[in-house]
Amino acid sequence: MERADILVIHAAELLTLDEGPDGPLRGADLGRLGIVPDGAVAIRDGRIQAVGPTEAILHRFQGRVRISAAGRTVCPGFVDPHTHLVYPAMRQDEFRMRIEGMSYVDIAKAGGGIRSSVRRLRQASKEDLLHRARPHLRRALEHGTTTVEIKTGYGLETASELKTLEAIEELRWEGPCDVVATFLGAHEVPDEYQGRKREFIDLVIHEMIPQAAETGIARFCDVFCEAHVFTVEESREILFAARNAGFRLKIHAEEFEPIGGARMAAELGAVSADHLVAIDDEGIAAMRDAGTVAVLLPGTSFFLGMHRFAPARKLVEAGVPVAIATDFNPGSAMSESMQMTITLACLGLRLTPAEAIAAATRNAAYALEAGDRVGRLREGMQADLLVLDIPDHEVLPYHFGVNHVQTVVKKGRIVHQAG
Ligand SMILES: [Zn+2]
Repeated sequence: MERADILVIHAAELLTLDEGPDGPLRGADLGRLGIVPDGAVAIRDGRIQAVGPTEAILHRFQGRVRISAAGRTVCPGFVDPHTHLVYPAMRQDEFRMRIEGMSYVDIAKAGGGIRSSVRRLRQASKEDLLHRARPHLRRALEHGTTTVEIKTGYGLETASELKTLEAIEELRWEGPCDVVATFLGAHEVPDEYQGRKREFIDLVIHEMIPQAAETGIARFCDVFCEAHVFTVEESREILFAARNAGFRLKIHAEEFEPIGGARMAAELGAVSADHLVAIDDEGIAAMRDAGTVAVLLPGTSFFLGMHRFAPARKLVEAGVPVAIATDFNPGSAMSESMQMTITLACLGLRLTPAEAIAAATRNAAYALEAGDRVGRLREGMQADLLVLDIPDHEVLPYHFGVNHVQTVVKKGRIVHQAG
C-alpha cells in the first residue's frame, strides 16, 4: 500500500476537469467536466497523487486523514482571475444613489467612482489596506476560491501604486490563497492630471512601469482601454512598454464600446482580455487566432443593472477560451463569491452549468498562466479542491446565493471546514 496524507473518497460526482485536449477548454469541449462517479483523490505533500474511482484508490492507498464526500460533489478550487480586492473604503452610498436613479457616470462626476477610491487609497497606510483586504480574501476562500488575482489601480501615482503592490505581496506571503499580482497603473486619469492625459501616460511608462517591474511583485500589467479613459493607441503604448519591462499582459476592453482594444491586445500577445460586453466579430476572430483568454465578468453587468452581458455563446462557438471572474471591487461588483458568479454566468452569459464551472476553474487558471498547476484534479498538480454539499454539479448555479462549500483543501491542507 502507498501512503497518502489525505484521501477524499466516495464523491457522488468528482469533477476532474481533466478531459479534452491540452490547454484551456474551447468550443464544444468547454462543458467537459471529466466526471468520475463515486470518485476519490489521494493527496501527498501538497500534490495530487492519484484520481479515480473510490474502490481503486482505496485499494492502492492508505491515508492518514480520510474525508468522506458521500452524497457530495468534489471539484478543483475556484480560480478568480480578475479582482480589485485591495481597496481603501466601501462605497455603499453610491449603491444607494444608483438605486435612487443616479447613473454611474453622474456619480463619478459628483466625485464618486474610482476617483473617490483613489483619494482614499493615497491617504491609507499599507496596514489599513491589509486590514480591509484580509477578511475579503478569507471570505473568498470560504466560498471556494483558492487562487486569486489582485490588481493595483487605486493609487495612480508611483508611491501609492507601489504601496498597493506591497500589500498584495504581503497577502501572498500570508496565504493560504495563492495570490497573483497585476499592475494597473493606467486604471483612470487621476484628478491632478485632468486635461494633461499625455503627461500621465508618460509617468506610467517612464516611472511607474520601470519601478513596478523592479519590485518583481506583479506578473501582469493591465490597462483600462475605453474611449473615455485610455484609447486603443494609448493602451498599446502602455502595454508595449510593459511588455518590454518583462510583464505579461492583460486588458480591460470593450466594456462599453467596441473600439478595438481586445484585438490590439491579442496582437500584442496578451494573456487575457477582460469584460468584452461590446466586443465585435473582428475582436473575437483576433482573440481566437491569438489564443487570448476571454475573462467575462457577469457579476459586473448584473450589479450595474446593465441588462447587457458579454456575447459568451459567440465567443465559445468561435473557439475563444472563455473564463469567468468576480471583478470584486467596491464600485461595480461587491462580491467575492465565484459560486454567485457561476450562477450569473448561466443566467446572463447563457453558459451551461458545466461550461460555467469549467470557466471558473481550468480556464480561469489559464487566464493567469497557471493552468499547468491549478484548475484541474490531475496527478502531479497542486492539491486544491473543494467538497461541495450538493449531490451533483447542476445544483451549484441552480441553488443560488448560498455557500455550498463544505471543505476547502489548499496545497494538500484542510484550510476551511463549514460548521
Ligand atoms: Zn476590473
